[in-house]
Amino acid sequence: MRFDTFAVIDWSGGNDTGPRPRKDAIWAGLVRAGRAEAPRYLRNRRLAEDWLADLVETELTAGRRLCLGFDFPFGYPAGFAGALTGTADPFALWDWLEARIEDAPKANTRFDLAGEINRTLGAGRGPFWANGLKRDIPGLPRGKESYANPFPERRAAEQQAPGAFTCWQLAGAGAVGGQVLMGLPVLARLRRRFGNRIAAWPFEPLDAPVALIEVWPSLLADAVRAEPFTPQIPKDAVQVRLLAAALAGLSPDAFAQIATVDAPEEGWIFGLGHEETLRAALPALLTPPPLRNDCFAMPRGAYWTPVDDALAHLRANLHPVAGPETRPVGAAAGRVVASAVTATRAHPPAANTAVDGYGFAHAAIGPGPQTLPLTPGRAAAGAPFHGAVPHGKALRILTGAVLPEGVDTVVLEEDCTTDGQRIAFRGPLKRGANTRVAGEDITEGQTLFAPGHRLTAADLGTLAAGGLGEVEVRAPLKVAVLSTGDELREPGAATAPGQIPDANRPMLLALLRRWGFETVDLGRAADTAEAVRAALDRGAVEADAILTSGGASAGDEDHISKALRETGSMALWRVAVKPGRPLALGLWNGAPVFGLPGNPVAAFVCTLIFARPALMRLAGADWPEPQGFDVPAAFAKSKKAGRREYLRARLRDGRAEVFPSEGSGRITGLSWAEGLVELGDGARQIEPGDPVRYLPFGSFGL
Ligand code: AMP
Ligand code: MG
Repeated sequence: MRFDTFAVIDWSGGNDTGPRPRKDAIWAGLVRAGRAEAPRYLRNRRLAEDWLADLVETELTAGRRLCLGFDFPFGYPAGFAGALTGTADPFALWDWLEARIEDAPKANTRFDLAGEINRTLGAGRGPFWANGLKRDIPGLPRGKESYANPFPERRAAEQQAPGAFTCWQLAGAGAVGGQVLMGLPVLARLRRRFGNRIAAWPFEPLDAPVALIEVWPSLLADAVRAEPFTPQIPKDAVQVRLLAAALAGLSPDAFAQIATVDAPEEGWIFGLGHEETLRAALPALLTPPPLRNDCFAMPRGAYWTPVDDALAHLRANLHPVAGPETRPVGAAAGRVVASAVTATRAHPPAANTAVDGYGFAHAAIGPGPQTLPLTPGRAAAGAPFHGAVPHGKALRILTGAVLPEGVDTVVLEEDCTTDGQRIAFRGPLKRGANTRVAGEDITEGQTLFAPGHRLTAADLGTLAAGGLGEVEVRAPLKVAVLSTGDELREPGAATAPGQIPDANRPMLLALLRRWGFETVDLGRAADTAEAVRAALDRGAVEADAILTSGGASAGDEDHISKALRETGSMALWRVAVKPGRPLALGLWNGAPVFGLPGNPVAAFVCTLIFARPALMRLAGADWPEPQGFDVPAAFAKSKKAGRREYLRARLRDGRAEVFPSEGSGRITGLSWAEGLVELGDGARQIEPGDPVRYLPFGSFGL
């Protein structure tokens, strides 16, 4: 069962949600020929219906098969359609509703119609309940006090779907009743318009070019939770994007198998009972959406932005751009977990012995000297003892061996004497002594790592112990590095007066590699618009993000800021930080560019403080918070208010020393230092012995 295009629509029973994308509106996710489009915001049902009709038309004309998923039930619990229309045919119900519901962007009659149905079929006490309007509606109970439902509360599908709401509840957080009433008429019109070119599942076989299926985003709840939401891309948008991707990722066979259900009247949720299959279909196709052009735009007004505000802005406006991929555990060190990893086996899988010794039943021994006859055989790791150890006898057992039946306690070899036939030792021993309980370290199904975690060497051990051979991680973020300035020469090359070696590029490339990013060396660009543009062009093609140094201010030769300004995405960040100069941030052909100051010390510090967390976010990793601690200062300093300062520092005898010169051109100070002293935004008079916050380079992942 092969479709070319998949669209998933998060429907809404509410009114027009206005021009700006927002949650609880209608959102559509689309994957065509394996390519995902950014989720589409549809502010009201009229627009949505037009968009759907256009899409069906376009795909039919192009000869592509289209699968359309909607997140509301296609049928009601058994008996309702028949009571209302005289036939159990769900399409009769669709048409019945379509003929009666009035829908306009700013108001609709869903509550009135529900009241009318209640008065006819349920003596005004049900099946519908909850009224989202201020005015009372005769026959529509607001709560469930006097509620009575002549029909089943739930469909068979909902009984199997924990957390699903009933289609009878019309209002309140999470309710879907309104969506059904306002959605089925739209489907009825699509069917009428496109006739036998549309088939609605599971009521009709899926052999028409267009299929309508019922979906439920909660089937992918874990994957959805792993994605970042923003006001511009709310949860609804993430859900439709993921569901469309998962549907598109299913093999035709898997799709056909999932589609095989028997629910002639109530309908069914596509994928219910096949959550694993659906989930597994996801990663291959999942390409994160691009960044928005205004992601670096700072609120106007503030001239000097405090460091914390700048960081909060990056955190809120950037999202992962690295796509997921599957890696063998042995090749996953340094990678970022893309979706929650759960253990597929317990560790240890069975109770076993932690020492070499002798095993027996604890109930057979007491305090004081003990003698136990040995039973023939032994238990070793990988070579278990088959059979039961008789009560009152002991068995030779070696570290890691599974405890055989009849053994719950082990005495350490060194605590025993033996003549080959018996062992003797001193009691008492605790029950379970020297043994490991099954699952004491890891239980099956336990979450080992959450998305965003960067895998360490130890983590590979944990993954293997937890039964995993592969893990879903993000592709490494590719970061390009460019130096700008007419004065720069390659390290080691001859320099004419006025020329200097490019110190930033080797330094920045090494930092990035250290953090697990892949790097692209863009070399040096002269101070011309053309050279800078050409380098950025290459960076945007070959990398996910670009780090530049130099040329970021607002002067004549500041070609990075000039180039970014042309794109309309440029933001010059004046962050209240020392060392630092303005940072030029923007997008070049979709790739985020971090324009660092040219000065090596400022470039280094700004990379640690700003670029690193921003790049980690793009890579899908958790937001890093460098961990510092207070130590006595070994220096005196009078610090002015207004900006945060980072001093090149190191610990000696438990006190923080700082590099004697604060000159921002003094690269050797970076080599001398083993960390930074961070002085807060306010003024401060520091005397030797006063506590200052020290951030070792290790807490920046170095
Ligand atoms: P700019 O930000 O381009 O105004 O440069 C500020 C200072 O940093 C100037 O003294 C530059 O010569 C110096 N500089 C810029 N880029 C580098 C680099 N890659 N290596 C060493 N120094 C640099
Ligand atoms: Mg320059």
